[in-house]
Amino acid sequence: FLQGKRALVTGSTSGIGLAVARALHAEGAAVVLNGFGDADEIAAMCEELDAVHSGADLTSAAGVEELMAAAGEVDVLVNNAGIQHVAPVDDFPVDKWDKVIALNLSAAFHTCRLAVPHMKRAGWGRIVNVASAHSTTASPFKSAYVAAKHGIAGLTKAVALELAERNITANCISPGYVWTPLVEAQIPDTMASRGLTREQVINDVMLERQPTKKFAQPEDIGALAVFLCRDVAANITGANYEIDGGWTAQ
Ligand code: NAD
Repeated sequence: FLQGKRALVTGSTSGIGLAVARALHAEGAAVVLNGFGDADEIAAMCEELDAVHSGADLTSAAGVEELMAAAGEVDVLVNNAGIQHVAPVDDFPVDKWDKVIALNLSAAFHTCRLAVPHMKRAGWGRIVNVASAHSTTASPFKSAYVAAKHGIAGLTKAVALELAERNITANCISPGYVWTPLVEAQIPDTMASRGLTREQVINDVMLERQPTKKFAQPEDIGALAVFLCRDVAANITGANYEIDGGWTAQ
């Protein structure tokens, strides 16, 4: 049902973004990939998804402008690129704070401001922002991430209201823990900052918050992103969908 539509997924060379790109491609969208990684692996993804790729670094406005110039007119915009840094607030590296806010929050503002003019002209658009359970709750040692994710939830609502009468929706998907490289990468940091073993971090920190005691899979987020693009979802806007195994129900 997305035949003839172009979908840009930021941070789509890995994890959730790649799964979302695959799901949108399966519905017929022309996909634009973005993100870092091994050149051969990215070439294989482009071939698999008949996609183009921009390796623009989205931590600056100029980087997002480079991406949007490469992507062209975008009908489905998925802001997914994100990084994490774990440290006590009084020891939080300032450059890490700036980077997390730039990528997890400001990049989504820049893609929206650059994608929306075409969506308005086309009279149709879908913006899906991959936020987090940390868009409505907090965890210690994740000040920048929690601030950025609360921020993107607010940005989503404001954009949704502005575009409400234009057949353009903006929604958040808020995962709990999804088994991806980002989650794997934060295990050593959490081990260090809390003095725990790998097993303790997985079972007592990560899944401790997730009542189902299961990680979600990247494909679960892809399926919801596709649903939010459907015509039946035209009246869903400004919403924040949790896929968090009950985390935020507590
Ligand atoms: P990941 O590390 O597997 O993928 C991140 C993607 O972003 C990669 O493609 C990477 O190359 C790209 N990227 C990193 N820095 C970039 C930059 N400066 N410019 C452009 N691209 C950049 O991560 P993931 O787990 O798939 O997470 C994707 C999103 O989902 C993030 O916004 C994350 O906060 C959110 N999220 C993840 C989980 C989880 O459990 N994995 C939970 C909640 C929310």
